[in-house]
Amino acid sequence: MELIFATHNEHKLVEIRSLLPQNITLRSLGDIGCTEEIPETSETLEGNALLKATYVLESYGLPCFADDTGLEVAALEGAPGVYSARYAGEPKNEARNSEKLLRQLEGLKDRRAQFTTIIALCLGKETHIFKGSVKGVITYAPRGLNGFGYDPVFQPDGLEKTFGELTLKEKNQLSHRARAFSKLISFLKEYQATPQK
Ligand code: IMP
Repeated sequence: MELIFATHNEHKLVEIRSLLPQNITLRSLGDIGCTEEIPETSETLEGNALLKATYVLESYGLPCFADDTGLEVAALEGAPGVYSARYAGEPKNEARNSEKLLRQLEGLKDRRAQFTTIIALCLGKETHIFKGSVKGVITYAPRGLNGFGYDPVFQPDGLEKTFGELTLKEKNQLSHRARAFSKLISFLKEYQATPQK
């Protein structure tokens, strides 16, 4: 089975390829010649994931899934949330986003945060939603060079290391995205095993 993952993010492709069963061929937006940035204009993670997956299905006629992730910080009333990618403004810049987050939390003891990933899967007329979350804290300074985005400033509950200090394999055992993807993968396995009408 061939599926498009509606992303331009190489890190995510690598993460997801390492999780998917081998009988699913994953193709990226680049692989199908889609070079545009699909607008993410919704105010919810689910809305944005649906926008991206529907866009690919309608424009290219290919089964597709898309994800949207937000980092919700308790002391910031859930910010940056759905605006995580552009928290420090345009153009999107991961290092500046983390710097801004640390500045906003300066002097605050409550460092609780949660990553949530929503995946929207569009298979012809069927649409399915999957969700994964991980709780943790925002550190006082970045640690580690692995991963991407807010990884160096997010320490999951129960570990002494940030996501930026974990290997990909370690991160995949507990990350928000891995949890959402494991639900997607279970669904796809069952879907493939069921004869389609
Ligand atoms: P997106 O919806 O996956 O593009 O993610 C939105 C924002 O959250 C981007 O700034 C990403 O860098 C950040 N983000 C998403 N997933 C992760 C992650 O696993 N670790 C750190 N940051 C992430």
